[in-house]
Amino acid sequence: MHQYFTDSQKQKDDFLVLLKEPKNIVLTAHQNPDGDAFGSSLGLWAFLKQLNHNVTVISPTDHADYIAWMPGVNEVLDFQDDKAQPIAKELIEKADIIFCLDFSSLGRVGEMEESVKSSSAVKVLIDHHQAPETFADYVFWNEKAAATCELIYLMIEELGLLKYINKDVATCLYTGILTDTGSFKFDSTSITVHRIAGELIDKGINPNAINRRLFDQNSIDRLRFLGYALKEKLNFLKEYRVSYFYFSKEELVAYNSKKGDTEGLVNYGLSISGAVMSAIFIERDDMIKISFRSVDDFSVSEFSRNHFSGGGHKNAAGGKSDDSLEDTVKKFLELLPTYKEELTSQPS
Ligand code: 5GP
Ligand code: MN
Repeated sequence: MHQYFTDSQKQKDDFLVLLKEPKNIVLTAHQNPDGDAFGSSLGLWAFLKQLNHNVTVISPTDHADYIAWMPGVNEVLDFQDDKAQPIAKELIEKADIIFCLDFSSLGRVGEMEESVKSSSAVKVLIDHHQAPETFADYVFWNEKAAATCELIYLMIEELGLLKYINKDVATCLYTGILTDTGSFKFDSTSITVHRIAGELIDKGINPNAINRRLFDQNSIDRLRFLGYALKEKLNFLKEYRVSYFYFSKEELVAYNSKKGDTEGLVNYGLSISGAVMSAIFIERDDMIKISFRSVDDFSVSEFSRNHFSGGGHKNAAGGKSDDSLEDTVKKFLELLPTYKEELTSQPS
């Protein structure tokens, strides 16, 4: 399913009129931004600046080191930063347009939710997550899209504004596509994804440099933690075709684990031959953060929505729990018998 506001000539014309004169624009994505969240925010930021708008990216939280090299990243306001928050609140309140990127339920912006909700700005939603909420005036949404960055490219194409995709915009959009497709690996890697990636390369970006900055800048601590995780913490329940790990705050501290260091770890569980679902439970200050991955038709988005207040995509979803780490893992394990039939009947 998809919904592109550009399919309606009226909405498309209205949108182009909206962008004609300089506007105050706020761009935001989900908390704990990943490559697609920052790729779409910073890509659109670099694009809209060329159209002479006054644009600010406001992130609900700070970001991990692996995306800290992106063009424009130093201009991002972190809503959780005490100095930045009053400025961010004023920008949101006075914004003419707010772009909501890479999320479609407002709760995903955490503490920013109230400010965004109460702003009278025109809201534009560009996203590829399942079960979107209906709060936006303009929607460019497709649950089949590999990345929000793919949708931004398609929207710019529909608007006839491709000439404004310069090298910085292209670098950001390529980053989001690369990270959200698992380096062109996931099921969402379509002909369109490859076409867009090719056209972005044509803008002069350096795919090798982007890959190395994203994936080959590990700290030794992160690799030691990975070693510990794989050797000591990875469980595989063959009878359910399920892998899982869990980590307490103390373990993370012991390995000097930083924000973003656990990113991608869940995929190791899914790389075990026969695995259909992988889960990782991480004890954060205020909750247990959960990541789920799956293959074939087992929908972790549905699983997480039904049991762990989360959602996402069919094969990649997140969730949370206010129970203790042990109780959360126990709840997960107790759910497995109910899903045994569905898990074990997947073709993989
Ligand atoms: P990750 O496991 O990498 O945090 O997230 C996997 C996917 O699920 C991402 O597309 C992410 O945006 C989405 N996601 C993560 N956590 C949540 C959540 O709590 N709620 C919803 N609706 N989606 C989530
Ligand atoms: Mn995304």
